[in-house]
Amino acid sequence: MAGLKGIKTIRDFDLKDKRVFLRLDLNVPLENGVISDETRILASLPTIKYALDHGAKLILASHLGRPKGPGDKSQSLELVGNRLAELLQIEVMLVEEPDSEATKALLMGLKKNQVILLENVRFHEGETKDSIEFAQALAPLTDIYINDAFGASHRAHTTIHALPSLMKEKGIGFLIEKEIHMLDQLIESPKRPYFAILGGAKVSDKIAVFEKLIDIVDGFIIGGAMAYTFLKAKNVSVGKSLVENEKLNYAREMIARVEARNKSFLLPVDHIVASSINDTTGEITSGLTIPDDKMGLDIGPKTLSQFSEAVKGAATIFWNGPMGVFEKEAFSKGTFGLAKAIAESKGVKIVGGGDSAAAAEKSGYASQMTHISTGGGASLEYLQGDKLPGLEVLRAKIR
Ligand code: AMP
Repeated sequence: MAGLKGIKTIRDFDLKDKRVFLRLDLNVPLENGVISDETRILASLPTIKYALDHGAKLILASHLGRPKGPGDKSQSLELVGNRLAELLQIEVMLVEEPDSEATKALLMGLKKNQVILLENVRFHEGETKDSIEFAQALAPLTDIYINDAFGASHRAHTTIHALPSLMKEKGIGFLIEKEIHMLDQLIESPKRPYFAILGGAKVSDKIAVFEKLIDIVDGFIIGGAMAYTFLKAKNVSVGKSLVENEKLNYAREMIARVEARNKSFLLPVDHIVASSINDTTGEITSGLTIPDDKMGLDIGPKTLSQFSEAVKGAATIFWNGPMGVFEKEAFSKGTFGLAKAIAESKGVKIVGGGDSAAAAEKSGYASQMTHISTGGGASLEYLQGDKLPGLEVLRAKIR
């Protein structure tokens, strides 16, 4: 696990009666006052349970959404706190002012099965500015700092970066440990054949991943809107499909570089098209080209069977980005069909976070994946070889 060299884990500390500041990623979607996907809450439980079982006095912290200020109660962690209390059968005390005397007293007097949950850390203006003043207000509450917020670790924010930069005792929880272990399998001696399946809206979002993976994978499988930029670069008519015209040269170069390495680069051979993204039905094209008045919104059935065949024999699969507009039933078959093929493959299958995680979940095959990352941006940045501020600071000495 090269990515974690020099970083301690929660197991390395004696937690008994210590005040442990546990930064989690409890940034769950709320719809009409209900948590619509609690994956991130569930993924945080092992570290919370471990800390409680080992006698820690726990302060939990997380951000939620992008609040417009401290008064923005629509972004409160209250519902999350209630759910944690239910799941863990503990008392969760939501605290608005972390550096008040009342909070300090509450913390010192914490009983077994009681935890403090700080209200949305983004209610504090300093959080997203990596404010050292905010960190200095939190540090006196903390004996040991643990980061388990993988999905936020690519951001230099106070509770991810400035706070641990002041702490001597610091490390990671089980969620980050697992994420890095899984992602390292994609870049350190992966089992072969190894395919990266890339889809989603834009080539430009995935360029750094292409660059990193081109010398590691045995082939790329390309779907989603990004496929139309590659097809147009090969002079295929793609009608009104979403194309990044300024990336056509890059797309041409990319194809040539992959071919020069004798690797495969699978693009769609047929499509589901419609006149507009608002249409509720689509048509299958007979071949590669798309009529001028239509746009490609999903891969077609021939493409799905070619992609599925390639995936079947893979020993390692990394999947990032849907094959079409999977949010709409008419354009979801490609993404869900490929999810099924990935799920049925015997290899290591790792799904990037964000939209791909949502697609895997919606497909009904999520439980058959080896790992679905809880961090969209963070998992891509880590794979690209970028240093994540939230991890680097744990390797560093106190400042
Ligand atoms: P990304 O965040 O880059 O993974 O992009 C995900 C988004 O790409 C999803 O919301 C999809 O609806 C969208 N998408 C996938 N395929 C297409 C397509 N052919 N045309 C337009 N949007 C697409």
